[in-house]
Amino acid sequence: MMRVKSSVLINLFVLQCLLILGSSLQDFDFFYFVQQWPPSYCDSRHSCCYPTTGKPNEDFTIHGLWPNYNDGKWPSNCDQQTSLHKSEISDLMSKMQKDWPTLACPSGDGMKFWGHEWGKHGTCTSLDQHSYFQAALQLKNNSNLLQVLGNAGIRPGNFYSVERIKQAIEEGVGHAPFIDCNVDASGNHQLFQVYLCVDTSSTKFIKCPVLPHGRCGSRIEFPSFSNVSESHDEF
Ligand code: AMP
Repeated sequence: MMRVKSSVLINLFVLQCLLILGSSLQDFDFFYFVQQWPPSYCDSRHSCCYPTTGKPNEDFTIHGLWPNYNDGKWPSNCDQQTSLHKSEISDLMSKMQKDWPTLACPSGDGMKFWGHEWGKHGTCTSLDQHSYFQAALQLKNNSNLLQVLGNAGIRPGNFYSVERIKQAIEEGVGHAPFIDCNVDASGNHQLFQVYLCVDTSSTKFIKCPVLPHGRCGSRIEFPSFSNVSESHDEF
């Protein structure tokens, strides 16, 4: 009788250990690493406000690093208890301001945007706050999109075929991107966001297992910041 009881207790203990271990392991198939082109964010229906830390450079910036499943679904808001703490990422702050600026109105320092990305997406990874933001900053450096496009003769202020943009990124990064467009004030389709797929270690670009939905026109604008201005409208 005693022996049966202790084996039940041992089994329960092992089960509990497995559950704890399981919940700390990642439960997704790959990441979308999404970068955006700030002039296209600003030159659109909702316009933008520059961050309190200053106007962003004319370069691609980070939107987010999003865990995803191979069936196209994704986990979100996996831990409502842990909000983003500035002290966890203080050494990354100047890079975050440059490479991951907020463009929402009213102007902010970025913490609200980064806190949203951490809460919605970061909490569904097995990364801690510092590793999550550092991984995204590193991926931006590694993809080097502006340089990759420049090498293929694709420069802000002109129109290009989506195919040419995709091909240039595939040649530079090693895998084809998904291109997300939006529409400018004159109705032109423009390059808004570039999705790259990354393995679960958050370091290696991979072929996308599944692509998001959405289509661009065949010829799209790659707008320059010099033709776009910020607005102070709230949205
Ligand atoms: P997500 O919830 O991660 O899918 O991202 C979508 C949200 O991020 C929307 O509310 C967007 O308005 C917001 N967003 C996208 N880019 C930026 C940006 N550069 N600055 C501030 N908010 C942004």
